[in-house]
Amino acid sequence: MVIEKGKREKIKIYSRWGDTFRSTNQRKAMQLIEIGLAEKYNHYSDGEFAIRLIKCTPEEAFRELKKQKKDITKIVCWECGKEPETNVYGRRNWCKKCHEKHTKTKQVNLDKYMLLRMKLMHDRALRIIENQRFPVDLLDYKEASKVVFDRAIKDLQVFDSAHEMVAVMELLRNKIMTKLKVRIGNHKPDILLPDEKIVLEIDGFLHKHRKKADKVRDVEMRKELGCEWEVVRIPTEYIEMNIKKLVDAIRGLKKEMQRVRKEYNGLLPENFSPRDQLVWDKLRRKLAK
Ligand SMILES: [Zn+2]
Repeated sequence: MVIEKGKREKIKIYSRWGDTFRSTNQRKAMQLIEIGLAEKYNHYSDGEFAIRLIKCTPEEAFRELKKQKKDITKIVCWECGKEPETNVYGRRNWCKKCHEKHTKTKQVNLDKYMLLRMKLMHDRALRIIENQRFPVDLLDYKEASKVVFDRAIKDLQVFDSAHEMVAVMELLRNKIMTKLKVRIGNHKPDILLPDEKIVLEIDGFLHKHRKKADKVRDVEMRKELGCEWEVVRIPTEYIEMNIKKLVDAIRGLKKEMQRVRKEYNGLLPENFSPRDQLVWDKLRRKLAK
């Protein structure tokens, strides 16, 4: 529970039998719990926070509190012990100077971390290409790899995964223009292919559990972009398997989606997902040759 400065919400104090009550402010209520005279007590079903005295009357409790008060939780700066700028119970509070220092250090550390993260991600991307089930010549990816690396270093937020990096390398190699993390309505899809009118999403293991949310997302993005666009989802396993066929796969899937839409008056039927699987299996077999 957070107690904010200036918040005057009253906390009810119940007797140990849960009948009579008084009220006090949040700080005092928490202090009574801290010194062992009261416990949390949610009397109401709406979960409203209240406390219950354990073994004393309210008068005794407040007398004891007053006695101990100077020892309990005088909030001071977390770093230097001086008067803090904020006054939030149960959290770290800083004076202005220490707060600025803390914020700055945190940002510097975060930048360092993000930079390392990108470097490791890029290394992992190259490893994914090295370990393709259908082996490829890594030299084909040298130039694209460099472009992706520079892009990642320039904007540390632009790639979420090594698989995305691999996909962008392959698209670059095929001279297909990509835009990353562009806002479409309320969404920020992984990769946008403006010339192909395709939104490309790289789906990891987690997506298996949120198919429905993904479907809503797809519909909303197409509303923004127009009906010539399709959201194509490529599983990460595929990126690991046969990256050289990525462009064929994306185009193939888009074509199939648009064909099915035509048949169903612009809508993808409810059963498109299992069909999606069939299309995938067909494509996989074709591409594996
Ligand atoms: Zn300080």
